[in-house]
Amino acid sequence: MAIATINPTTGDLVQDFSPYTEAEVDERISEAHAAYLALKATDFAIRAAWMHQAASLLEAEVESTAAMLVLEIGKPIVQARAEVLKCARSMRFYADNAEAFLAETELADPDSVGAKRAGTRYQPLGVVLAVMPWNFPLWQVVRFAAPALMAGNAGLLKHASNVPQTALYLDALFERAGFTPGSFRTLLIPSSGVERVLRDSRVVAATLTGSEPAGRSVATIAGSEVKHVVLELGGSDPFIVMPSADLDAAVGKAVESRTINNGQSCINAKRVIVHAGIYDEFLEKFTAAMKALVMGDPMNESTQLGPLATEAGRRDLHALVSDARENGAVIAAGGEPLDGPGWFYPATVIAGVTPAMRLYSEEAFGPSASVFRVTDREEALRLANDTTFGLSSAVWTRDPDEEEFFIDGLEAGAVVVNGISTSYPQLPFGGVKNSGVGRELAGAGIREFCNLKSVWRA
Ligand code: NAP
Repeated sequence: MAIATINPTTGDLVQDFSPYTEAEVDERISEAHAAYLALKATDFAIRAAWMHQAASLLEAEVESTAAMLVLEIGKPIVQARAEVLKCARSMRFYADNAEAFLAETELADPDSVGAKRAGTRYQPLGVVLAVMPWNFPLWQVVRFAAPALMAGNAGLLKHASNVPQTALYLDALFERAGFTPGSFRTLLIPSSGVERVLRDSRVVAATLTGSEPAGRSVATIAGSEVKHVVLELGGSDPFIVMPSADLDAAVGKAVESRTINNGQSCINAKRVIVHAGIYDEFLEKFTAAMKALVMGDPMNESTQLGPLATEAGRRDLHALVSDARENGAVIAAGGEPLDGPGWFYPATVIAGVTPAMRLYSEEAFGPSASVFRVTDREEALRLANDTTFGLSSAVWTRDPDEEEFFIDGLEAGAVVVNGISTSYPQLPFGGVKNSGVGRELAGAGIREFCNLKSVWRA
């Protein structure tokens, strides 16, 4: 895949970039390694001051940075601004909390291990490779970089090939904020260049956010090198609506959850599972609301749905929708790509999806919702869990017993009750099953790339 900015709204090539040579990559790995040695000798207060400064830069540059995200992936401008500001908030969160998350511990009864003092200490691991996707081009990177740098690690970023401008912006951001040059470096390389970097002895661990095949590949290489890996992979999240739910609120939030980021989020509500008692009313209202979304130029403040980020992404989504249609599903809204420039695909609602259709088991990465009818909570749970994914999930109910039933039973890294899945720096984020390994965010996220050292003193 060429390393290039292609405007998804027009399909025009904006700028392409030459991949770095092996020598240029090696130079950046050396720089990152030297920066790690310097960073680990700094204390939390210094790193926190730099991290706050990086947040201030983002806040000051919110308009130009948001416009860059729109240009590279077609995200509606209102959502792009929100992404930039969320990154700034999360940087400040780690600046303020990293030291407490990584505080030393002391056993209250060191006698029990025959010591005078015993406990634990967290230390940085070294240079960590981050392979990142385009869908939240700033946020996916920052949620790795902010904790990793605050812990004293250095980062190397292999970003998705269609967001090179964002990748280079991030390369400069941390250094501009005061971090030691090389603390965070972008490598403009194709995915075929990842293996060489990951096998380099100066690179000690990796994190990948992206598709399952990419995750498997990076995990295989990391495994053969005995290097720690965190994987944040795909999802096909259920959004369950039970009869006791506030129906209108559930409809509104299902639409938002399915179409945020033009339907290209790992935690979009991709499978909407509705109790038979309210199914017809829900489907009618949901379909009407999906049809009413304003689709258009993502730079317009009123646009709710922009184009898909890539031509291939639109082709893949349409193949899934067409397969469902050919196998007997009912397309209640959308279902055909728009004519004209750009990679627009309308909000799509599909009923009657069966296990014979690809949509039942594969992730739809675009604004297409599959709506299922179930007769009771047991069937809802069975269907929700009948997937190889396990990222997040949502349930709408006002029955406390039902709430507990789903919180306990859903096989996912998160359960949201009467709301929509999102990520917060305060809460861990990650999946089970084929959705991933390890956690990002909160205390768990910063500790992923640390050596938890036990210390025993006689
Ligand atoms: P992708 O094709 O897997 O790409 C992600 C990154 O991996 C890109 O930098 C890509 O580089 C690289 N890559 C692809 N194949 C690779 C390989 N074999 N070895 C090493 N690197 C490889 O995924 P995407 O289409 O950008 O993103 C969509 C997927 O990401 C969806 O499945 C979505 O659910 C998932 N996602 C998960 C989370 C989460 O937190 N769990 C968050 C966001 C997205 P190139 O661009 O150069 O190919």
